[in-house]
Amino acid sequence: MSVFEVGDNLFAVDLFEDGHPFRTSAYVIRGTEPTLIETGSSASQASLLKGLQELGYEPDDIRHVIVTHVHLDHAGGAGMFMERAPHAVLHAHPKGARHLIDPGRLEEGVRAVYGDVMDTLYGAIVAVPSHRVRIQEDRSTLDLGAGRVLTFYDSPGHAKHHFCVWDNVTRGIFSGDTIGIHYRQAGTGWDFDYGFPTTSPSDFDPDVMLETLDRLEALEPEVVYHTHFGPTRPASEAFRFSRKGIHAIQAMLARLSDDATPETAAIMLKAYLAHDMAEGGHSVPSLEPMALDIDLDSQGMIVYMQKKKAGKL
Ligand SMILES: [Zn+2]
Repeated sequence: MSVFEVGDNLFAVDLFEDGHPFRTSAYVIRGTEPTLIETGSSASQASLLKGLQELGYEPDDIRHVIVTHVHLDHAGGAGMFMERAPHAVLHAHPKGARHLIDPGRLEEGVRAVYGDVMDTLYGAIVAVPSHRVRIQEDRSTLDLGAGRVLTFYDSPGHAKHHFCVWDNVTRGIFSGDTIGIHYRQAGTGWDFDYGFPTTSPSDFDPDVMLETLDRLEALEPEVVYHTHFGPTRPASEAFRFSRKGIHAIQAMLARLSDDATPETAAIMLKAYLAHDMAEGGHSVPSLEPMALDIDLDSQGMIVYMQKKKAGKL
């Protein structure tokens, strides 16, 4: 099943990132102005098109495309999709728009983190013509008709070019990478669900992320629509595991020496995760389903530590 209903005229589409189900989702709002939230990477394009088709849509029908931030698993395929969707406007964060229009620097940055794995994992990045991009400032709104209004909230902490999107109809937040990752049993093969924040490079800042979480929870959402993966109900559960994870990361950061490497951080992170799962009453599984995230998270921790030390936060 690659498409499932998650709310009133709202559907999640499994993008099968890197062939893995239950890892990365896009969302589709059905209505007079069909809206896509997250495109996934270029490599996920076929899964996205298939999901849209299951909902009775061709890219041609889509009027709005929203990407929460420009990381490739969320927006790498935006340019490719916009070429197929001539009637769509791409809504972007003020600090993200230029990367969608001119992806050169973004590509360089991603290559620095992933190396050449980037090409097989995410595929090519296509530039979006600037006249098709609409910048959405903090608290700006998008009226989709029939009483449905989306509101954009600047939400730094994971990335400086990140916004979350409030849906008034379901009282839900499309959270991108800001309110943690919900690891589903169906995706991990574990016998329990697990939640943990993502602290990938290069903008991760635990203090800023905690402030953003407070600000978003004050909206009193009922549900969080994660990009990774699917909805968390009640929303408070996603805020709880995100805060708990960030506090744990802060404790790890305090214990890391000045010359610590991502490898040291990864060892610490794995020990914490195993400990936390055991405390939750689970027999500790292989952490392999989290391997890519552990790798990125530990890099993000070290980048944050170095920036802090250099006074560059
Ligand atoms: Zn992501």
